[in-house]
Amino acid sequence: MIKKILIANRGEIAIRVMRACREMGIASIAVYSEADKEALFVKYADEAFCIGPPPARASYLSIEKVIETAKENGADAIHPGYGFLAENPKLAKACEQEGIKFIGPSSRVLELMGDKITARREMIKAGVPVVPGTEECVLDPGRGGDLAKEIGYPVIIKPSGGGGGIGMTIVAHEEEFANALKSTQAIATTTFGLCDVYIEKYLPHPRHIEFQLLGDQKGNAIHLGERECSIQRRHQKLIEESPSPAVTPEMRAEMGAIAAKAARIVGYEGAGTMEFLFSDGKFYFLEVNARVQVEHPVTEMVTGVDIVKEQIRIASGLPLSVNQEDVRMNGWAMECRINAEDPLNDFSPSPGKLKGYHAPGGIGVRIDDGVYTNYTIPPYYDPMISKLIAWGRNRDEAISRIKRALYEYVIAGITTNISFHQAVMKNPRFVKGELDTGFIERETGLMDEIEEILKYEKSLDKKISCRPEDKMRVAAISAVAALTQMHSRGRTNP
Ligand code: ADP
Repeated sequence: MIKKILIANRGEIAIRVMRACREMGIASIAVYSEADKEALFVKYADEAFCIGPPPARASYLSIEKVIETAKENGADAIHPGYGFLAENPKLAKACEQEGIKFIGPSSRVLELMGDKITARREMIKAGVPVVPGTEECVLDPGRGGDLAKEIGYPVIIKPSGGGGGIGMTIVAHEEEFANALKSTQAIATTTFGLCDVYIEKYLPHPRHIEFQLLGDQKGNAIHLGERECSIQRRHQKLIEESPSPAVTPEMRAEMGAIAAKAARIVGYEGAGTMEFLFSDGKFYFLEVNARVQVEHPVTEMVTGVDIVKEQIRIASGLPLSVNQEDVRMNGWAMECRINAEDPLNDFSPSPGKLKGYHAPGGIGVRIDDGVYTNYTIPPYYDPMISKLIAWGRNRDEAISRIKRALYEYVIAGITTNISFHQAVMKNPRFVKGELDTGFIERETGLMDEIEEILKYEKSLDKKISCRPEDKMRVAAISAVAALTQMHSRGRTNP
């Protein structure tokens, strides 16, 4: 069994992994950049080492420093979290060479899945339905134009080494193709260091539905059902839930089995996600995320399986702790990503100091965060403050709990997207489960709703409203304000 894990990541996911370590009696090592000296994950770890300056490429992305710290301090495994080095075959390879266990798939599988063109080919071989598109890399505008015509407009051009929704270009007409190809290739080269791009049919109004997979070293692979992540801005997820309102038990069993079989065929080890677009009742493979995902807690809430513990068990050579037949989806879970960003200003990042922070609690609520009052969110990394997850016996109960929890949240000092989540939770189409990836763009009324919510919040701040139902909210805001003053007094006059 693994005894000591170095977590090559930061923020809430570093704490999430350390929590699993603590429950399993495993020691944890944090590595951090100079910008993260005061971060909670550094304090939570059993040991912590600074590995470089704030820019990620000099710290969190330095394979050399991560490996060196692991070796010097006796870590027998490295957990990469998500983002940064999580799907980097070079880190997995370096671990393989140094005799350190990489908690994730082998470097061979990471290479196969990291290149989206190769991943599409592998999935076609494994019998998984994919989005109609090219099986080859498209370099030349002439040949590309012919292929796009064959596929049928609109099409989407995507970087093969891409991620995070970056660089994808939708092309509606033939005349725009050559320019779009050129610009996607340029973005692909500068962002991912690889000019390879491919073409897919652009599906109108699909839902984004993905299956959680677990594969062990003994060749077993199972699925833990699906998550729906259709509420996105700039192709990035903001709200996720499990199960999906669009998936029946029969569809889950069928698609889950196809996904798990494909994982077995490629020799997948660890936790991973197979992403699909769902359109007109059909699933189309998008990509494999060969790591734990941001939204994994919603699956944990409905299945009761601790995905990070399974990752560590698998890396230790143990079999999966559950069989496919034992997996039950119980109730409904929903996650809101609480970001330091301004929904009224095109969701632009707004990092800064949290003058006050009070997270919700109570029945059915889970908070995965890594912040505290007076902590400053650094501008160098992604602006996520916390993940709010709520569970209910059914979707309606999950929604009313997440609404109640959003109401309890008090974050002072920076702009957050809490008002956006509140507006979505009130939206009649969202409540009915009528979701697709174009939701935010189409629901233009959301912005007016957000303005209303913010106006109301301001009135609470100034204690103008004295409706009895607002008493608790006003009390929470005052308590956080009092705490903030206490903290600042403490600092200036110890
Ligand atoms: P990335 O790896 O950059 O996140 P993905 O291929 O996973 O890119 O796609 C991210 C999102 O972009 C999807 O969830 C969906 O909203 C949109 N998208 C991607 N491909 C298509 C497509 N062929 N048709 C319609 N929407 C798409």
